[in-house]
Amino acid sequence: MEDERVEVAGVEVSTWHAIGGRRVGSEATFEVRSPADWEHRLASVARGDAATAAQAVDAATVAFPGWAALSAGQRATHLHRLADVIDAEVERIAAVECLDMGMRHESLVERVVPRGAANLRNYADLAAAHEERVWSSKGTRNRVIRMPAGPAVIITPWNAPWMLATWKLAPALAAGNTVILKPAEWSPLSASLLADLAERAGLPPGVLNVVQGIGEEVGAALVADRRVRRISFTGSPEAARSIGATAAHNIVPFTAELGGKGPLMVFADADLDAAAAKAAGQYDDSGQVCLAGTRLLVERSVAEPFLERFHAAADAHVLGDPHDPATTVTPVIHPEHLERIAGFVDRARAEGHEILRGGHLHEGGGLFYAPTLIAPRDNDAEIVQREVFGPVLTFQTFEDEAEAIALANSTEYGLSAIVYTGSQARAERVGRAVRAGTVWVNTFLVRDLTAPFGGCGISGIGREGGDFALEFHADLKTLQILEGSTD
Ligand code: NAD
Repeated sequence: MEDERVEVAGVEVSTWHAIGGRRVGSEATFEVRSPADWEHRLASVARGDAATAAQAVDAATVAFPGWAALSAGQRATHLHRLADVIDAEVERIAAVECLDMGMRHESLVERVVPRGAANLRNYADLAAAHEERVWSSKGTRNRVIRMPAGPAVIITPWNAPWMLATWKLAPALAAGNTVILKPAEWSPLSASLLADLAERAGLPPGVLNVVQGIGEEVGAALVADRRVRRISFTGSPEAARSIGATAAHNIVPFTAELGGKGPLMVFADADLDAAAAKAAGQYDDSGQVCLAGTRLLVERSVAEPFLERFHAAADAHVLGDPHDPATTVTPVIHPEHLERIAGFVDRARAEGHEILRGGHLHEGGGLFYAPTLIAPRDNDAEIVQREVFGPVLTFQTFEDEAEAIALANSTEYGLSAIVYTGSQARAERVGRAVRAGTVWVNTFLVRDLTAPFGGCGISGIGREGGDFALEFHADLKTLQILEGSTD
């Protein structure tokens, strides 16, 4: 047999790995179900092992010299072709991702899937436009050359499979590296589709390989392979510690985009309606968003009117099927994750923190947790300090700007922050004082693909986005030639 395919939302998706331009199976499999309909098994997917990992790194290693030897402009042509294929397949990709991950269909079609193509175009053009730095000093002519580094392993989490795969893939390929992509085992199908699209776009075999399976199994084996020259990881700090240890052992550059516990700070001079609407909007997608502002920090003098507005906005949420455009709160990814969310809230209740809203499974059944707001008794509480990754927010008040900043910076995380204020001076002051990779003022989730992106503290190592990711995927070389010594 050469491949095994299942029909998902009317789209044929391979359940096998994509290695070196071929589909490859595994004896063992793992099951994939739809969060929106848990009784419905979508697929049994090949469960890769150490041998699968070695085979994929073989393919990426063989393909590397040819891909690296192309000019950035030639690689750009390939990436634009892949972007064209993606643009033509938005509906089908969205249909698969919606069933597999449970993300809202409308936002997939309008924003998430097209952004994958935009990313490829962005990096194709950025790499092709790159000019090498050349200068004279000490009688030599100096030139900085970006050398492609080698095969890169890309590991993605379950919450934004398509968006993160394409976000990480684009700079790696544009820089001249070949890729082995390992998507998360709870939502692996759009990565498989991506391999098909890459083949259709004429990407040379072995340039993009997709390996399916469990993180601790095939993921760990990929990371441990000494032929791998870059590791780009997005997921939890726990997995990053293990991957980082292996990367350190093999002396391989490693970026980690990890969890968050972002503050959403509301000052008395803010537009309270906008702030409360955005705060309630943190329940969107059941809060399975690393960048979410999950700690509401509100100036004491406006706490009451803020809460009134917040509850009104939260009451308007619609928990439902991700296909329904009216849905704002989608099902959570997996029963195990639902249990994890419930565990956080149950422990918070047992510790005596006040549940202001929700605090229970959704009465209507399905994989839903009721949007929850908790007023902690103290800032050291687990519910304040640890990422829940669900529709659970905390509510705390502050007296002045200094206290707001101290609270904002009081966790080990530092991925993102949201600030609501009507004062430009305060926006500058607070924006600079908060330790986070991204701070949004009076807005949220607006992203420029060329801006650096990443986290401080346990939210990550390194930056992706724009030139930052291209630099990561290259080995820089300084070439010095004695002036006057050559014609
Ligand atoms: P996870 O760490 O459990 O898994 C992420 C990926 O790593 C999966 O593909 C998994 O199979 C793999 N993996 C796990 N252990 C591994 C190991 N030892 N070796 C190699 N691979 C391994 O995370 P998750 O539960 O899938 O995702 C949720 C987390 O991701 C949250 O913390 C969330 O905040 C974070 N996240 C961060 C960003 C960001 O940009 N900073 C974006 C999305 C999600």
